[in-house]
Amino acid sequence: MRPGPPILGHVPSPEFRYEDLLPTGPDDGPTHFPRPQDPADAWAELAAGNRRFVDGTHLHPNQDAATRNQLAAGQRPFALIFGCADSRVAAEIIFDQGLGDLFIVRTAGHVVDAGVLGSIEYGVQVLDIPLVGILGHDSCGAVAATVEALDTGPMPGGYLRDLVERVTPSVLAARQAGLLGTDDIEAEHVRQTGRLLMERSRVIGDAVAEGRCAIVGLVYDLADGQARIVDSAGDIGVAGGS
Ligand SMILES: [Zn+2]
Repeated sequence: MRPGPPILGHVPSPEFRYEDLLPTGPDDGPTHFPRPQDPADAWAELAAGNRRFVDGTHLHPNQDAATRNQLAAGQRPFALIFGCADSRVAAEIIFDQGLGDLFIVRTAGHVVDAGVLGSIEYGVQVLDIPLVGILGHDSCGAVAATVEALDTGPMPGGYLRDLVERVTPSVLAARQAGLLGTDDIEAEHVRQTGRLLMERSRVIGDAVAEGRCAIVGLVYDLADGQARIVDSAGDIGVAGGS
């Protein structure tokens, strides 16, 4: 493998070209940069990408035809993002990543169901992904709908009710902890979601307990573009939020 891949957490120099990292032999993997191997490296890469997005210094990595072609042989994403389906919270964009980098699972309000758990177990167990990010955000409609239902009584119809029912435990936990502000409730929903994944899934819980995987809880700020840590389980190399 050629030397000179981008150092994790650093923005490559202007001369840097991802094309230079194309595999040169059969042992090379399908990605253009060394795949982060542990939770801390994975978080460093995500954090660096989010800084590039916020600063406007995007690299738009791994979106070229050569990468696309290589990835047809298989995927080895370095992080799994389980986030809200909100159109403003697109993980590949806000973390400045490309094809093959992130395994994405999204539902409105990042509510957990069997399909979500199975998808995350696939990422953690089969793809050996070292980091799961829970990605909530401010002004989340699912959280707002739940607060409204709890405050006013009527539940929404159809399967919207299912969303509200799945967010309700987080809102109740926030209130029990004295967290009444919208931002605080959204952060608590992210924390509760991470804990729920570990409690409901033995695969995820064991992977975190054994240090093969970590969970980082993030709240994304729609206006400034930053994904801030509000919780973590396992070693992500930095303090685990509030
Ligand atoms: Zn949302």
